[in-house]
Amino acid sequence: VGGSGTQPPRWRRDYCIACELGVFDLLSQSKQSMRAAEIAHRLKTNVDGMERLLAACVGLELLHVEMIEGEAVYYNAELSRIYLTRSSPKSLFQSIQYNSQTIYLCWHNLTDAVREGRNQYERAFGVSSKDFFEALYRSEEEVLKFMELMNSVWNICGRDVVTAFDLSTFEKICDLGGCSGAIAKQCVLTYPEAMVTIFDLPKVVEMSKKHFVSAEENRISFQEGDFFRDPLPVADLYVLARILHDWTDEKCVELLIKVNKACQPGGGVLLIEALLNEDKSGPLTVQLYSLNMLVQTEGRERSPTEYLRLLEAAGFKDIQVQRTGKLYDTILGRK
Ligand code: SAM
Repeated sequence: VGGSGTQPPRWRRDYCIACELGVFDLLSQSKQSMRAAEIAHRLKTNVDGMERLLAACVGLELLHVEMIEGEAVYYNAELSRIYLTRSSPKSLFQSIQYNSQTIYLCWHNLTDAVREGRNQYERAFGVSSKDFFEALYRSEEEVLKFMELMNSVWNICGRDVVTAFDLSTFEKICDLGGCSGAIAKQCVLTYPEAMVTIFDLPKVVEMSKKHFVSAEENRISFQEGDFFRDPLPVADLYVLARILHDWTDEKCVELLIKVNKACQPGGGVLLIEALLNEDKSGPLTVQLYSLNMLVQTEGRERSPTEYLRLLEAAGFKDIQVQRTGKLYDTILGRK
């Protein structure tokens, strides 16, 4: 939680609730500070409950409070205006809602996750977690919610990850597990020669075409498939953004070997991941993400050296790491 206005806040249940109730949106629309009773009335909540929630948000530095004629009035801090209101171009509203409604239910079983060393879909949602993407995509609504979650962070740091290395020499790009197309859009925006194929599971491709990537975007195309089972499109560069962190080392190497085989000579692979320090001493956000991977997936967050080993095991060379100073960093390997 907190930060400078340039760093999005970390998830906490209390302000997720304020977000879901629409506190930050209401304060942003009203253009002036508001009393707790007025906010409670507009958002149809209990006044005492709202007062306590607003006070907690003040403590978290997400709201400011002033006394006017003996009464507390509240207004948005800059951080909330940028990240917590729905209409902001850098809004994390969808992510926050997903955290609140889905991810926290898995975190509720963190003790079991640590004891058992596996994700908690079965306990949290009563669905088999053998194939955790099957569990995650258990309805069309859930597919869309997950895609919105994935999409939102790239409004904040999408450009940083596609410009960390000069990718202008790669014309044919395949975004493996490209999801909502946010990274593909950043690639075509940044590199005028780039043509990007988004490869993802059929139901994700369908939703991506329907909700995220317009048909006029003629430098972005789609290919449906399962990247463990089906042939991969031929490309000069394979982008794997937040893909390897979902999987065990064994599955990562299996996938990277496939990528290496499909890759054009002289081509490469770009990993986009949140990187742990080499000694795992931080950053805190990534340490928490790694626990999140435990409760939700088969994977983990890794250090640069751990990714380097996976890439080398799959035959990639000249591996370089580029930190962006934001949430996600990049690693480029060459065939
Ligand atoms: N790259 C996107 C991003 O960073 O926003 C999405 C990352 S998301 C954690 C993982 C993506 O991999 C999802 O879009 C998911 O549908 C896709 N995926 C998972 N298993 C897959 C498989 N077997 N074949 C193809 N895509 C898969």
